[in-house]
Amino acid sequence: MIHLYDTARRAVVPFEPGELVTLYSCGITPYDSAHLGHAQVYLTFDILQRRLRDLGHETRCVRNITDVDDDILRKARELGVHYLDLAAEEITRFDRDMESLGLIPSWSEPRATSAIAEILTLIGAVLDSSHAYQAGGAVYFDVTTFPRFGEISHFDHATMLAMAAENGGNPDDPNKRHPLDFVLWQPSLADEPAWESRWGPGRPGWHIECSALVLRELGETIDVHGGGRDLVFPHHECETAQSEAATGAPFVRQWLHVGLVGLDGNKMSKSLGNLVFVGDLLKEWEPAVIRLALLSHHYRPDWQWSRDDLVLAAARLEAWRAIGGMPPSGDPTDPGDTLGSDEDGLWRVRAALDDDLDTPTALAALDDEASLGRPVVQGAALLGVTL
Ligand SMILES: [Zn+2]
Repeated sequence: MIHLYDTARRAVVPFEPGELVTLYSCGITPYDSAHLGHAQVYLTFDILQRRLRDLGHETRCVRNITDVDDDILRKARELGVHYLDLAAEEITRFDRDMESLGLIPSWSEPRATSAIAEILTLIGAVLDSSHAYQAGGAVYFDVTTFPRFGEISHFDHATMLAMAAENGGNPDDPNKRHPLDFVLWQPSLADEPAWESRWGPGRPGWHIECSALVLRELGETIDVHGGGRDLVFPHHECETAQSEAATGAPFVRQWLHVGLVGLDGNKMSKSLGNLVFVGDLLKEWEPAVIRLALLSHHYRPDWQWSRDDLVLAAARLEAWRAIGGMPPSGDPTDPGDTLGSDEDGLWRVRAALDDDLDTPTALAALDDEASLGRPVVQGAALLGVTL
C-alpha cells in the first residue's frame, strides 16, 4: 500500500484510492519558460502516477493553464502582445520541455479561458449558498462563513494576512468585509479582457478557475490535489473554501505539496532573476540525466539546485547502463536466480516509492543492485528512465 504525506493532516497516511485515481496539479501561468521548480512538481505527479499504474490503477491527472490573470496580462502589456498569443507561445515551449523530460501526458490540460461559463455558474452557486457577497462590481468570498478556512495550511491569522498581502490578495481593498476575503469575480481594467456576467463585466479571480476546472474535468471530490508548496496558502485554502461552499462535498482526499527549489541559498524566482530553465538544461544534458538529478531529492523538503546534481546523475546513469539489461543467464525469459534478478531492483524501487515517494532511496537501491552486478532496467523504467 502507498503511504503519502498529507498536508492537511500533517502526517504520512495510507493512500487507498479506488481503481480510478483522479489527480489535479495546478499548472503554469504561460508568460515565462518552465524552470526546475515546475519540473520537480510535475515530475512528482508523474512518479506517483507511474506507481499507481504499476499497481493496476487508472490515473487521470489534470493540469490547468492559467491563461488569464494579473501576471500574464502585465507581461503581455510590457511586451505589447495579445495575452493569448503570449500564452500560445509559452504553452508550446512548456509542453515540449515536459515531453522531453518523459512526463506522462496530462489527461487534460484545460485553459482558464475555456471555463468562463463554468466559472460563472460556480460563482453563482457560491453566492446562492450565502458564502459570498457583491461589492464594487466584484464578488468576494466571505471567509467568516467558512470556519475550516486555514485547516490545510494550519497558518494563524497573522501569517495568513501577511501571505495574502504578498500574493496579490489585496487585504486593504475597501470593498472587503474581512481582509482575508478573496475575489471570485473582478472588474477588468480598461486594457484587460472582460466577459459579461450578471455582476457586471469583468474577469475571474485567481483561485476560482481551478475549482471550476476540477469540477468540470474530474468531479466534486478528487483523490489528489497539489502543486508547489507556495500554493498551500492562499490558493488551495481558497479553492477548498469556495468548492465546498458550492457543492457541500469534500473537495480533496489527499493534499500533495512539493518543496521549492532554490539556487545559491535563495528561492528560485522571477523577481531575483535566478531561474534555471528546463529548456536550457535540455540543450546540454540528456533528459534522463535531468530526471535523475531531480529524483535524487525527495519531493517534500525545499532544496538547493546545484550543477553537481547533473554530474552525479550522469555518472549514475552510466553505471546502470554499464550493467546491461539481461539477467545473468543471458536469456531474457529466464528470471534468473534471486541474486541476479532484475526483479530485486524493481521491488526495492516499489517499496521506496510506497514510502511517501522516497526517490532518493529508490535511486540508492538501484546503485546498490548495479554495484553487485545486477541489471536495474525494470526499476529504472518504473522511475521513467529508459536504460
Ligand atoms: Zn490551482
